[in-house]
Amino acid sequence: MQLSGSIQEHSLLSWGKLHDGLLIVAGPCSVESPEQLRATCRQLAATKKVSMLRAGVWKPRSQPGQFEGAGSAGLAWLKEVKRDCMLPVAVEVATPRHVEECLSHEVDALWLGARTTVNPFMVQEISQAIRGTGIPVMVKNPVSPDLRLWMGAIERMTLAGSSRVAAIHRGFHISQQSNYRNSPLWDIPLALRKEMPGLPLLCDPSHIAGHARWLAEVSLTARGLAFDGLMIEVHHHPAKALTDPLQQVTPEGFARIIHEIIHSPDKLRRQKSLHVLREMIDLQDHQLLELLARRLSLSSEVGKQKKQMGEEIVQPQRQKELLADRLKKAAALGLDPAFVEKLVDLLHSESVAIQKESRNDSPGHS
Ligand code: PEP
Ligand code: MN
Repeated sequence: MQLSGSIQEHSLLSWGKLHDGLLIVAGPCSVESPEQLRATCRQLAATKKVSMLRAGVWKPRSQPGQFEGAGSAGLAWLKEVKRDCMLPVAVEVATPRHVEECLSHEVDALWLGARTTVNPFMVQEISQAIRGTGIPVMVKNPVSPDLRLWMGAIERMTLAGSSRVAAIHRGFHISQQSNYRNSPLWDIPLALRKEMPGLPLLCDPSHIAGHARWLAEVSLTARGLAFDGLMIEVHHHPAKALTDPLQQVTPEGFARIIHEIIHSPDKLRRQKSLHVLREMIDLQDHQLLELLARRLSLSSEVGKQKKQMGEEIVQPQRQKELLADRLKKAAALGLDPAFVEKLVDLLHSESVAIQKESRNDSPGHS
């Protein structure tokens, strides 16, 4: 899908000063107090490695009773910090009221969180609130690995006339065991880039990793995969943070990571990205094999049914229709028809062999 021309023409530069070609968004997970915000942002600005400050003012929490952000008061503190540090600021919005409050407090950019992107009703309401304002919006991926849902939210923002829209990859919540808080499933943001060329794509290593110790490696991988920028959570005293204490880094820690990424040899970045791409391929091959086993166990059931009904195992008309159907699906997926035909033939031979075997094993009438 092509985005509107205006987005493709806009360079990343219009979002803020780039660092080695990267848009670097950094700041606390949440605004907690004027002192915390000021200390963190001043130290961040002093690193000279930040394009834009981020801060959560309204925090989506899984359970009630936890710290839910400073709310509107935080926007006033943020306005002071923005002037003090001379950096643009971005805030997460989850309702049209949040958008209005941000606009009246000179917030420079907005982002939609993973729990908002997942809800098209809310995304639509937010898009109506930003219509005509031209404010830049970054759209995080939804919690679940659903590319269409992510693209839908991005489209709603562009349709609302936002001239600057970017995507943020923050990983996905899936049941698989992993060291990370959210699985990166890198093929999904890469597919997004293919579907929406020209759309700036940022990586949020903080919410992927869930722990400061893995921020550098996730950031390096994102760089190797040619992401356009990073969003990193930074706190002047992470151990005291009211939200996400494990994954926030100090401003010095942040500066070290950015330095490491900028000065990493090209070869190292490529090795990192090759490694994660191979991990994805291994995982998907395993899933393919599991699916094949399930599919072929159906063949065995079909063999038994045919025997009961006195039907032939090989039925040319059914096979012809099946191949036509699979080729149609393959075309929609952009797969090579010759490859898919070979695969269907192979599956068919295996299926016939299994049906013959199941025929010998089952009692049946014929
Ligand atoms: C955040 O950026 O602080 C946040 C809540 O992120 P996510 O929507 O990715 O969970
Ligand atoms: Mn957070």
